[in-house]
Amino acid sequence: MSTVIKGPQELEKEVIKADLCTLCGACVGLCPYLRAHKGKVVVMDNCNLSQGRCYSFCPRTPANLEALNQFIFGTPYPGDSLGTFQKVVMAKSLDKEILSKGQYGGITSTLVAWAMKKRMIDAAILTKREKELLSSGKLAKDKKQVLACAGSNYIASPTLEAFNKSAGGSYKRIAAVGIPCQVLALGKMRLNPLENKNNIEKLSLVIGLFCTWALSYREFFQFLQQEVPIKKIAKMDIPPPPANVFQVQLPGGVKSISLDHVRNFIRPTCTVCLDMTAEFSDLSVGAVEGISGWNTVIVRTAKGQELLEDARRARAIEVAEIPKANLNHLKEAALLKKKRALENIVKRTGSKENLLYLQGADSLRSLLPS
Ligand SMILES: Cc1cc2nc3c(=O)[nH]c(=O)nc-3n(C[C@H](O)[C@H](O)[C@H](O)COP(=O)(O)OP(=O)(O)OC[C@H]3O[C@@H](n4cnc5c(N)ncnc54)[C@H](O)[C@@H]3O)c2cc1C
Ligand code: SF4
Ligand code: SF4
Repeated sequence: MSTVIKGPQELEKEVIKADLCTLCGACVGLCPYLRAHKGKVVVMDNCNLSQGRCYSFCPRTPANLEALNQFIFGTPYPGDSLGTFQKVVMAKSLDKEILSKGQYGGITSTLVAWAMKKRMIDAAILTKREKELLSSGKLAKDKKQVLACAGSNYIASPTLEAFNKSAGGSYKRIAAVGIPCQVLALGKMRLNPLENKNNIEKLSLVIGLFCTWALSYREFFQFLQQEVPIKKIAKMDIPPPPANVFQVQLPGGVKSISLDHVRNFIRPTCTVCLDMTAEFSDLSVGAVEGISGWNTVIVRTAKGQELLEDARRARAIEVAEIPKANLNHLKEAALLKKKRALENIVKRTGSKENLLYLQGADSLRSLLPS
């Protein structure tokens, strides 16, 4: 099935105005007309292009999952819980500095820094918390800059703008770390059917982060500033269930806020998001429920396996078998996210034949609501 490519006006109508924007940043930094400002994508002026990279790359315009899976893995899109993978393990960094700054086991930062050290990559697109709760994409060139980006910000960030802006530079092999909507956009950039060059051939490694949802900046900021001094937040975390809290680390200790309040600020587009584990990446990284200080790592490609094994052999990281119960629970949670997203999509479109942005995904049919 060929995917229809439209232009920026349709992007504005079908995605931005329809409250489907994930703020991935894939449409930002390509031209002067689309900008990210305080948690939103803003259309600065009219552009009459009938086909644009902005529309083509967006994770909420039609995405041919079958073509993407074939392109990246050479296999059909499985439409199951975790997507295509070779194995799932748990791992943690053995670098004390990274462990102290990393979100959980610091595997993401360690593997990026290790890939730089081994010259597998020259630079990496990461996300850095800048001011208060706002984050943006950063091109990190060394371990110090990787460390400056460690930790999770649960507010959506237009990270891929940094890829669009810096991939034209002198760096030849660039890694990207992103949440599933950003990884889907990177996949669509790799499949780009338009002739315009976007330097995507420089993308040499993709590390995806697990994601259940992200928060909208403005609304959440207004809420949170009544609860805590935002400028003093050192770290944020959402511990696994049954905790049901959003935690912020402040100089005086950790403050927990009920997730029931925080969920009010989830971006609407997350309700139609199918992917919990960033299925189109080389490696996917998340928490390990009930085992603190470790990461779950899904190894999807030979390149991902090579990097993980190289870092393990050099004692940069420790790798262990993941308990069966954890793996089963991860699969259940990821499948539940898919079913919930499909239910919400069908509610939105009113038809099981119109799955909004999902194309070439016949394998998902069995997960549709009855
Ligand atoms: C919005 C969001 C939702 C998440 N939801 C879940 C979840 O439901 N379950 C789960 O197991 N894990 C979730 N994670 C992933 C988890 O928080 C950790 O990022 C992951 O386990 C890697 O841990 P680490 O110790 O390797 O991190 P680190 O080594 O500290 O690396 C963290 C990386 O996260 C990147 N990052 C930070 N904020 C963002 C952002 N807003 N967008 C894109 N990249 C960012 C940074 O560039 C950094 O490279 C979520 C992360 C985010 C950002
Ligand atoms: S989802 Fe990404 S590509 Fe689509 S409009 Fe939003 S920022 Fe742009
Ligand atoms: S739930 Fe999906 S759309 Fe929402 S932030 Fe996470 S990956 Fe992006």
